[in-house]
Amino acid sequence: MEFTLTEEQRQIRDTVAEFVDEEVVPRAAEIDEEDEFPADLIDDMADLGLMGMPFPVEYEGAGLDYHSYAIGLEEISRGSGGLGTVVAAHTSLAGNMLYEFGDETQKEAYLTALNTGEEIGAFALSEAEAGSDVPAMSTAAERDGDGYTVNGGKLWISNGSVADTVTLFAKTDPDAGRKGISSFVVRPEEDDGFVVEGTEDKLGDKGCPTAELRFDDMWIPEERRLGEEGEGFVQALKTLNGGRITIAARSVGIARAALNEAKSYAQQREQFDRPISDFQAIQHKLADMDTKARAAELLMHEAADLKMRDEDYIKEAAQAKLYASEIAREVANEGIQIHGGYGYTKDFPAERYYRDAKLSEIYEGTSEVLRNTIAQQLLDE
Ligand SMILES: Cc1cc2nc3c(=O)[nH]c(=O)nc-3n(C[C@H](O)[C@H](O)[C@H](O)COP(=O)(O)OP(=O)(O)OC[C@H]3O[C@@H](n4cnc5c(N)ncnc54)[C@H](O)[C@@H]3O)c2cc1C
Repeated sequence: MEFTLTEEQRQIRDTVAEFVDEEVVPRAAEIDEEDEFPADLIDDMADLGLMGMPFPVEYEGAGLDYHSYAIGLEEISRGSGGLGTVVAAHTSLAGNMLYEFGDETQKEAYLTALNTGEEIGAFALSEAEAGSDVPAMSTAAERDGDGYTVNGGKLWISNGSVADTVTLFAKTDPDAGRKGISSFVVRPEEDDGFVVEGTEDKLGDKGCPTAELRFDDMWIPEERRLGEEGEGFVQALKTLNGGRITIAARSVGIARAALNEAKSYAQQREQFDRPISDFQAIQHKLADMDTKARAAELLMHEAADLKMRDEDYIKEAAQAKLYASEIAREVANEGIQIHGGYGYTKDFPAERYYRDAKLSEIYEGTSEVLRNTIAQQLLDE
């Protein structure tokens, strides 16, 4: 097993890190304050090939391996947790749905534009009454001529109000439970009946709009169905497995940001005539923060490795996401503690890291649901 990055992976980390330090870090507080989708930064990231990192060059992707994609997402999230979600939802979720389950025409028409960053993608699975319990969804797609008429609504959709392509899940057979779910490509600009109800005012993850969507007699042609009818639930689970590796990456990136900030603060803040980093209590906090971030990063890379080898990685991706998201919250919490009272103010980014980290424990499978998944896999082994 290799524990070191290849030369190419190191170069990717350095390139993204440089961009993040120069362009994202100086803007992060403003993005957090104003909660606006940073379209100009997305254009810059598109120029660097960061909007289609893991997809082949034939679809205008960057053709990177999954380790490199995770490293890229970790770096972006180190700068801004909201930007990390924008890229993860666009790539790991919407992009993956098209890449894995789209036909050639669909890939050329929609995936290519996502990979170049000309268009933004979203993944619309959750509903008000169907979060962890996906098959409880009520959005329905009824056969209607050469297509389907969709009625219903989705909640919590990252990028939902700015997306050009939304991969949507709806019931095509309401009596068939999870086997009655199908997926479709929706084009908000073209499809009458697509309504953005509004966006959430959230604790953190600012800059990534989280939208409520409604579909009123929205007709979509059959050519926009992804795969066969009834395959949507399995497609969603497979997509979320890969997505969890990148939410682990987002978490590690936020944990690293919290650690770096706390370390430099501890080295310059003086109490009792010496830097607080001289106190063993502070040193031990920093030691634990670094150890946890490194362990989370290794779990993330192990899951990425299995994915790249085409081996089963359900348990490992769930463990990577579960552990990384929980330690990111813990590390960010200690970051605030090391800052004392200043950590509780907006004068320092420590509190933003805490708010951004919390989300990773909720989306793409809550920690409780992931523990269910891990336990099931463990007991079946
Ligand atoms: C900012 C944000 C962005 C999001 N982005 C997207 C997106 O882009 N696309 C999308 O489709 N969805 C998205 N989501 C939705 C997210 O995936 C759901 O919020 C999540 O799956 C939980 O669903 P819920 O909120 O309905 O909570 P519920 O499912 O109601 O869960 C409530 C509580 O009950 C627990 N619980 C539920 N079932 C079980 C069980 N079987 N065993 C043990 N505990 C259980 C949960 O762990 C949780 O603690 C986003 C959510 C947020 C907050």
